Amino acid sequence: MSTLLVVYSADYLKYDFGPGHPFTPGRWEALHDLVSSLDLKIEWVESTPCADDDLLRVHDGEFVEAVINASSNLTVPYAGFMGLATGDVPTFKGMHDASKMVCGGSLLAGELAVSGRQKRVLQLGGGLHHAMSDRASGFCVYNDLAVMISGLRAKGCRVAYVDIDVHHGDGVQAIFYTDPDVLTVSLHESGQYLFPGTGFVDEIGEGEAEGLSVNVPLFPGTTDDSYLECFEAVVPEVLAQFEPDILVVQSGADAHVMDPLAHLCLSTHAYDKIFDRLIELAESITGGCIVCTLGGGYAFDSTLRIWSMLAHKLAGEDLPENLPHAWLKRWRQHIRSSRWHSWHDLSSAPESPDRNLHIRDANRSTIERLNSHLIRAN
Ligand SMILES: [Zn+2]
Repeated sequence: MSTLLVVYSADYLKYDFGPGHPFTPGRWEALHDLVSSLDLKIEWVESTPCADDDLLRVHDGEFVEAVINASSNLTVPYAGFMGLATGDVPTFKGMHDASKMVCGGSLLAGELAVSGRQKRVLQLGGGLHHAMSDRASGFCVYNDLAVMISGLRAKGCRVAYVDIDVHHGDGVQAIFYTDPDVLTVSLHESGQYLFPGTGFVDEIGEGEAEGLSVNVPLFPGTTDDSYLECFEAVVPEVLAQFEPDILVVQSGADAHVMDPLAHLCLSTHAYDKIFDRLIELAESITGGCIVCTLGGGYAFDSTLRIWSMLAHKLAGEDLPENLPHAWLKRWRQHIRSSRWHSWHDLSSAPESPDRNLHIRDANRSTIERLNSHLIRAN
């Protein structure tokens, strides 16, 4: 059993938009409790806030200033133009500091992975992939992934980023759209049906980075087999061609069928395979160097099961059959699934085979169109 480095801080819980907001820090608290209860060899590393300079490599000074002001005064002129004081990103006291702590955790996770201490690192937070350089968006104030990637770039690393959140990783893509040393790959529900409305196959990067933004927009209702087929058709080849030094993964769990905010229909069995493949690909392409952050995930029980499964995979351990009894007892009032005791959903069998074939064919033609765009770029 190898030691897994896990970056965390109880201060992540201060990234809190208030009661009723779907991006509740309660998920991180329950996850920290769950991962602490597992029979895994873990070295916990305390996160520290990133420096303002780390933020300013990614975000505009004017935007950071607005977040600082909103954190204390809660009112900022023209806040809405910067995505602040909106339904998705309401302002709250201490927002700047809480966001800097999340960014600092991701930056530290990236630094640890390339330091040679342990090649696999789990950041038990973050994944705020929608934040743009000049505005907050989609529950994301600052973009911790971009702060991590820019920190790795400053160390001379070539970085491959794979985003499996059900929403397009638009902020990370936009920030590195012209950087030839960053590959971004996002698999998500098509922007035709879901926020943020981007991530189409013709968004392929610009200039020297043409061909280095790769988007796999999937049809609503996509189930395990079609998702995994699309993953295999795209991800291994683009990663191998790019030859990165490190793989950064945004491990959003909101493509699960139980998620209330989106319409993909993955089971835990798909996540099991996706995590295995990402770790295998890192072993063969980056010498095993991989950092995973969290991301979206709004169904409590599936999200917790998926992210604790990821901890097992990164630690190189098989999943036990059941979740820890004491943890289930502590959090049972939040759990809705009838399979509450088990890591896995009962079955990944499609409910409607004809509909599944239609969706599979639609996804196959998306991959064909993506390939024709990428071939033209190369
Ligand atoms: Zn999401």
